[in-house]
Amino acid sequence: MTKALRRQLIDTAQAMNTSGLNQGTSGNLSVRLEGGMLITPSGMDYGTIGEDDIVWVGHDGTWKGRRKPSSEWRFHAAIYQNRVAAQAVLHAHPLHCSALACLGKGIPAFHYMVAVAGGSNIRCAAYATFGTAELSENLIAALENRKACLLAHHGLTCFETDLPRVLALALEIEHLAAIYSCVLAMGEPELLSDAEMATVLKKFSSYGVQD
Ligand code: 13P
Ligand code: ZN
Repeated sequence: MTKALRRQLIDTAQAMNTSGLNQGTSGNLSVRLEGGMLITPSGMDYGTIGEDDIVWVGHDGTWKGRRKPSSEWRFHAAIYQNRVAAQAVLHAHPLHCSALACLGKGIPAFHYMVAVAGGSNIRCAAYATFGTAELSENLIAALENRKACLLAHHGLTCFETDLPRVLALALEIEHLAAIYSCVLAMGEPELLSDAEMATVLKKFSSYGVQD
């Protein structure tokens, strides 16, 4: 019954790697489903997995499937429980996002497109070991009023209303992180004001909506 959704999850997970957003068996991807989620298996090459390798995990951590779920199922579950708008969650180790996160830096309002994550900055969650409840707590705090955050010494996590949108959001944020890295190599940028970012956010609500 969930075959088509499992296929879409695999195709999107593969696109994470072919697009250059992620590499190897790093990262994970999930989609909300009745009391839990469908999530990629832990430590497996997305190029080799089939529908039966996708795991169903309940919000309490009970799981059904022939593979072990992603080691990061805790923060995926925490996002679905805390954020009603979340229908798909993506975690990856993109080059520029991860480099900034290794310095403990988030992405400030150096460029108007930072508003794509829902506010005037993209925060960096405090470091905790991968797969832990502590990482989950740090991430939920950094995601307050945002749909994306960096993870210190680790990578990027974001959520959206479906799988194509979550992939597009992650690619947009990695592009912003790449620009910000270039900017930092040349100097300290002036930041846009909160008032300007509020104006941008308002414009975003109708941007791309064609009559
Ligand atoms: P999984 O292979 O268990 O999903 O873990 C990859 C990862 O990025 C951990 O943070
Ligand atoms: Zn990771």
